[in-house]
Amino acid sequence: MGEVITVMTGAGISTESGIPDYRGPQGLWRQDPDHEKLVTIGYYLADPEIRRRSWEYRRAGPARTAEPNAAHRALVELERAGRLDRLITQNVDGLHQKAGSDPARVLELHGNMFGVVCVGCGARSTLDEALARIDAGEKDPACERCGGILKTTTVMFGENLPEDVIAEAAEAAERAEVFVTIGTSLQVMPAASLAALAARSGARLIIVNAEPTPYDDLADEVVRDPIGEAVPRLVRRLIA
Ligand code: ZN
Repeated sequence: MGEVITVMTGAGISTESGIPDYRGPQGLWRQDPDHEKLVTIGYYLADPEIRRRSWEYRRAGPARTAEPNAAHRALVELERAGRLDRLITQNVDGLHQKAGSDPARVLELHGNMFGVVCVGCGARSTLDEALARIDAGEKDPACERCGGILKTTTVMFGENLPEDVIAEAAEAAERAEVFVTIGTSLQVMPAASLAALAARSGARLIIVNAEPTPYDDLADEVVRDPIGEAVPRLVRRLIA
């Protein structure tokens, strides 16, 4: 058994699957500054038109039909080699699970877009069910149990992060002997603090990201190459 490895991924791992990030050069917020409202809880709850556009984005946006890429698949290999402890992700696109990662090892810091929850009563349903109602003519489908507002099980801006997931991610960062961050700028919490925690707890920190991050100085290794090439190469080395 080799070193205990935990990996943390951000939007950069999914851009090669055709999902734009928020802040990058091709990011959604440069293309459409208004997009931020669609994923901000205050606007979402206050305005049915924002909800209509948000559902439409979930339906027509690239994430619902995107396919995993070579980097997602390489992390499945790392797991099957018995080397991956936890796979922490900031992404809501479910591509790690779609690639074959064990859902029990995937910690989704910002939730998942394929579930739906009622903000009134907490009833759970699925994105497919909500989109089917929209296809049938509803613009802003309400909870069938209590009439409350429905939203995807993603953590919107202005919402609290899931405490149990954060706690589990922190434990994984502490026990990691190698902590690899992929495609995250490490500028938002809790991703930034998890990288710092891992390094402070003695992990070798490997950062794979096209742009510099605030933690590059702390890293044992920084890789700037395209993620679809860099991650399979890194995994081959870690498994060897
Ligand atoms: Zn409800």
